[in-house]
Amino acid sequence: MSQDTLITTLFRQEVLAMSSYHVADAQGLIKLDAMENPYSWPEDLKQQWLEALRDCPLNRYPDPEAQQLKHTIRQLNHIDAAFEILLGNGSDEIIQLLLMALPTGASVLSPAPGFVMYKQLSDCLGLNYIGVPLLADSLELDLPAMLAAIAQHQPSVIFIAYPNNPTGNLFSETAIKDITRAAKGLVIIDEAYAPFANASYIDQIGQYSNLMVMRTVSKLGLAGLRLGYLVGSPTIIEQLNKIRLPYNINILTQISVNFALSNSAVFDLQTQAICADRAFMLEQLNGLGGITAYPSKANFILFKTPKNRANDIFASIKQQGVLIKNMNPQGGLLADCLRVTVGKPEENALFLEALKNSLAL
Ligand code: PMP
Repeated sequence: MSQDTLITTLFRQEVLAMSSYHVADAQGLIKLDAMENPYSWPEDLKQQWLEALRDCPLNRYPDPEAQQLKHTIRQLNHIDAAFEILLGNGSDEIIQLLLMALPTGASVLSPAPGFVMYKQLSDCLGLNYIGVPLLADSLELDLPAMLAAIAQHQPSVIFIAYPNNPTGNLFSETAIKDITRAAKGLVIIDEAYAPFANASYIDQIGQYSNLMVMRTVSKLGLAGLRLGYLVGSPTIIEQLNKIRLPYNINILTQISVNFALSNSAVFDLQTQAICADRAFMLEQLNGLGGITAYPSKANFILFKTPKNRANDIFASIKQQGVLIKNMNPQGGLLADCLRVTVGKPEENALFLEALKNSLAL
């Protein structure tokens, strides 16, 4: 049997039809493509962290419930004792767990454009993904369209990123509430970018039986550790816990995230700097002829380039040593759009210079 035949007989059609998640090679480039925090820690904090790791028992399996870490997360976010926390290897794993628990053919809905993993994982698991386009000018939720899609498809899960990726905005609260009331399934508010937005639904979970909040430490500055969490009803989390792999959060992550969140003042300073630089970048971008930058409450900015020039401008910026994200290939509202992460001031300056040069070509 040829390898091709073997593969087609072995694997589900959904898997064969997928393309893998593409991560661009950033070697030698200033990396402003993945919404990472550009800052590291002060030396004394690094030393304390290494101390915290020193006696970590690598020969033993980690605590399967990561109780200490959950306790720290609960304290930091003032999470009510009535709610449970589920930890994932990044919030990507939580999206996967939620979707894995659904029956084949169930519907999953999110505003579009939205975070790509909602669709990617739905497709792979044989679920029916529906993306409801945002309003073109405001990038706001199209409430009538969302409500119509909910009535038509009865989605088991609705993902709403707050702020949204890749648009960077916070959607209208009244629209989110109307959607949550209309939905018969779960509404997951994905707060990956909450540290930059000063807005959260964590304190509203108790008001709706179907509302859950998902967060990650990635954007805060711990992307390398891979930790996401879901907060909500214990009865729902109990079901998801059944399909979670027993030791999904490794011991280095448990100790390191616990240490970092117990010293979160460092992130507060970094986040403040990023938000101030975001304002500066927005102003600079909108001052460039031909560029329209969208307002952002996240640590990145989506901007529109002159018609049919996005691919060239992206390539030229890369050639000048800065990697951002080309959204143009996704089309629709993202046609002509690029997305840049807010980096250190010197990185942002190099990006702006590279963009100016590419516009002049
Ligand atoms: N949600 C949103 C909206 C995101 O943009 C991302 C990462 N780009 C994630 C979730 C996944 O984050 P992680 O797996 O690193 O926790």
